[in-house]
Amino acid sequence: MSKNFQEEVLNRVKQIPSGKVTTYGAIAREITGSVRAARAVAQAVAKNPYPIIIPCHRVVRSNGDVGGYSLGVDKKIRLLNEEGIEIEGRKVVNFEEVLFPFEPLRFVTDRMLGKLSTWLRILGHDTVYAAEVKDKSVEGEEEEDKALVAFAEQEARILLTRDKNLASSASKKGVQCVQIKTEDVMEQLKELLLRNVNINLEPVPVRCSECNARIRNVEEGEEEMLKEKSYVPTSRVGKWDFWVCEGCGRIYWEGSHWRNMRERLRRLK
Ligand SMILES: [Zn+2]
Repeated sequence: MSKNFQEEVLNRVKQIPSGKVTTYGAIAREITGSVRAARAVAQAVAKNPYPIIIPCHRVVRSNGDVGGYSLGVDKKIRLLNEEGIEIEGRKVVNFEEVLFPFEPLRFVTDRMLGKLSTWLRILGHDTVYAAEVKDKSVEGEEEEDKALVAFAEQEARILLTRDKNLASSASKKGVQCVQIKTEDVMEQLKELLLRNVNINLEPVPVRCSECNARIRNVEEGEEEMLKEKSYVPTSRVGKWDFWVCEGCGRIYWEGSHWRNMRERLRRLK
């Protein structure tokens, strides 16, 4: 097994939020395009140098069986229980519901939903905001609505809108659409859940909340990049994980910001 493969596996494992599980096969499919590498994934997971920190207890067998664990199966079950996953006779209860989708739902939002777009990005969902759908030929509200529906259709995104007319014209075109009825962003997230739109509820460092591009870990030797930004807590460099946006260069880190968000989301659950 190459070091790269192991790293790829552990990177996927890091993405699984608390309260969710995935399977060895799903990780194999993510990396190689096929479930055949499931065994190799299980071996890579077993060699996880930082159990619990890299949450490999959240990886189970494809039939819902909890599988093995370097610190013992009992410990694995206890950790999963603490995260709200029920286990009966070594099997995950409501398996389908707690499976973490590696390909999170993708959205496009209308101009009324800027704040919701930001939150969806923080939760790892690829979300394009109406103002970013670039088509210079579009003028006026009606044209913009048409362009939004066309964009959602082309990119197979779920359209989120406050506008009843826009929602109905999207539905007529067969575009998956949710009409949002509330104004508060937390209520809006709740609406999505109540409408069975399976959004992730754990902030994940995969996407820039400003521009929707991917963010990546700042590696050793790149710390200079952090010192150039006045808003970065430089005293934490070398102690905390930092991420950089591949689109706009914005720096992210796991600070109080995410803790607050996590708390608000917990209340939502
Ligand atoms: Zn960005």
